[in-house]
Amino acid sequence: MSRHRIVIVGSGFAGLFAAQNLAREDVEILLIANTTHHLFQPLLYQVATGVLSEGVIPPATREILKRQKNVKVLLGTVEDIDPDQQLVFWRSYDERRATRYDTLIVAAGVGQSYFGNDEFATFAPGMKTIDDALELRARIFGAFEQAEVSDDPERIRQLLTFVVVGAGPTGVEMAGQIRELSSRTLKGEFRNIDPAQARVLLIDGASQPLPTFGEELGGTTLKALTDLGVEFRGRTFVTDISSDTVTVRDKDGNVEEIPSACKVWAAGVQGPAISEAIAARTGVELDRAGRVMVAPNLTVAGIDNLYVIGDMMSVEGVPGVAQGAIQSAKFVANRIKDKLAGRPVRSEVFEYHDKGSMATIARSKAVANVGPLKLAGFPAWLAWSFLHILYITGFKSRVSTLFHWMVSFASNARGERTTTNQQLVGRLALDKLGSRVSTLLVKGASPEEVLERAMRLRDDED
Ligand SMILES: Cc1cc2nc3c(=O)[nH]c(=O)nc-3n(C[C@H](O)[C@H](O)[C@H](O)COP(=O)(O)OP(=O)(O)OC[C@H]3O[C@@H](n4cnc5c(N)ncnc54)[C@H](O)[C@@H]3O)c2cc1C
Repeated sequence: MSRHRIVIVGSGFAGLFAAQNLAREDVEILLIANTTHHLFQPLLYQVATGVLSEGVIPPATREILKRQKNVKVLLGTVEDIDPDQQLVFWRSYDERRATRYDTLIVAAGVGQSYFGNDEFATFAPGMKTIDDALELRARIFGAFEQAEVSDDPERIRQLLTFVVVGAGPTGVEMAGQIRELSSRTLKGEFRNIDPAQARVLLIDGASQPLPTFGEELGGTTLKALTDLGVEFRGRTFVTDISSDTVTVRDKDGNVEEIPSACKVWAAGVQGPAISEAIAARTGVELDRAGRVMVAPNLTVAGIDNLYVIGDMMSVEGVPGVAQGAIQSAKFVANRIKDKLAGRPVRSEVFEYHDKGSMATIARSKAVANVGPLKLAGFPAWLAWSFLHILYITGFKSRVSTLFHWMVSFASNARGERTTTNQQLVGRLALDKLGSRVSTLLVKGASPEEVLERAMRLRDDED
C-alpha cells in the first residue's frame, strides 16, 4: 500500500514548520514552493538598506530539509486544486502538472495590497520578497548617486526625499534605517550633496506609528523617529503616486504633492491568487484582504483533508505574524498525526498564543510588547536582536547575520551595498513583457531563446 501523501504548498514559516512537525511520520511529503528558499521576512528591510546580504536570510529549503527523508522539495507554482479528485495543479517551468494528495496543506502567504491602486506598484515597490528588497536597495542607494551628479537643486531635493507608506513595524524599520543610512553610513562619502539632508517621510492613516502596539509604545516610537529626523504624517492618506511625486490628503482634506523619487510601500496585505482558486473550487469565503476564512480546526469548507494555514488563513484574533504561521502549522501537523494514528484529535479549535510583538526603530532603539510588559529603548533592542537570531533558520544564517550586525554596529558601515541594473529594472521589465511571462522560463532554454520568446509574446499582446 502506498504511503499517505501530504502535499504542502509554500516554504515560508507555515509550510516549513508543517513539514518539520511531520518529520517522524511514515508519510510521503511533497513540498511545492515557487522559490527555492525559506525566507526570513522580518529582516528583509536590512537587505534593502545594505546591512545584510541577500544570501543570509533565505537558506535553501532543500538544504534545511536534507536530513528529513520523508520530504521531497519541488520548485513550482500551484495554480489550482480539485478537492473531489484530490489533485493539485501546478506549473514547473513550462510544464503543467497534476499531483494527487491524501492531505493538502496550503501555506502560500500573502502579497502586498495597494488598496485597489495596483498602478502604485510601478513606482512604490512593496517588501515581501528578496527581489523586492534588492530593487529597493538599488532605488535607495541609486537616489543618492543620482543626486550627486545633478546640478538642479530641485531635482536633488526630490531625489533626497524618501517616502515610506505604512507605519507598521516594516514601515517604521525602513524609515529609521534610511535616516540612519543617510546621517551615519554615507557621511563624508559625497562631494556634491550632503546625504544627511535627506528627508524621510513616514505616512499612515493612523494617528501614531505602530498603531497595534498601543498608545504608550506608539508615542515612544514617534519620539524616537522624530529625534532621528523622520517626519511622521499621521491621519494622512496617499491618493496618487507617480515616478517623481506622492500625493497625500490629510484628515482635514488638505492635499499636498510631495516631490519624491524613491518610495517604499509597506501598507496592506492581499491574499495570494491561489486563495481565489480555492474559493472557486470549494465555495469557501474570502475575507476583504482575500484570505481564506477557515474553520476553527483550519480546514476549508468542511473538507477534512484540506487545510489553509499561516498568513493566508483568516482567523479572528490571529495576526499575520511568524508565530501565527508556526503555531497553525504545528496544530495541523498534530491533527494529521492523530488521524493517521487512528486516535481522537487532541483539539478541534486552533488557539493562538500571543507571544508579543516587537519593532526596531534604529540602532539600539526598539519597542516590545510582551504580555503586560512594555519595553522600549536598549533593552527592547537587545530582546529584538536575540529573538531574531533565535528564529532565523539554520546555523550558518545565524552566524552570518550576527557577524554582519557586529560589523555594522561597531563601524556604522554597511557591507552589502552592491546594486545592479538587473535589480533596479528587472521587475518592471518582466511586467512589460506581459502577463504570460512565467511561460518564458522554459526548462533548459538559453537566455537568447527566452528573450526571443519574450519579444514574440510582447508582439502578440500588442
Ligand atoms: C517585511 C516583513 C517584515 C515582517 N516582520 C515580522 C516580524 O518582525 N515579526 C513577525 O512575527 N512577523 C513578521 N512578518 C510576518 C511574517 O514574516 C509572516 O507572518 C510569515 O512569514 C508568514 O508565513 P507563511 O508561511 O504563512 O507565509 P510566507 O512566509 O509568505 O510564505 C509563503 C510561501 O508560499 C510560497 N508561495 C506563494 N504562492 C505560491 C504558489 N502559488 N505556489 C507555490 N508556492 C507559493 C512562497 O514562495 C513562500 O515560500 C513580516 C513580514 C514582512 C513581509
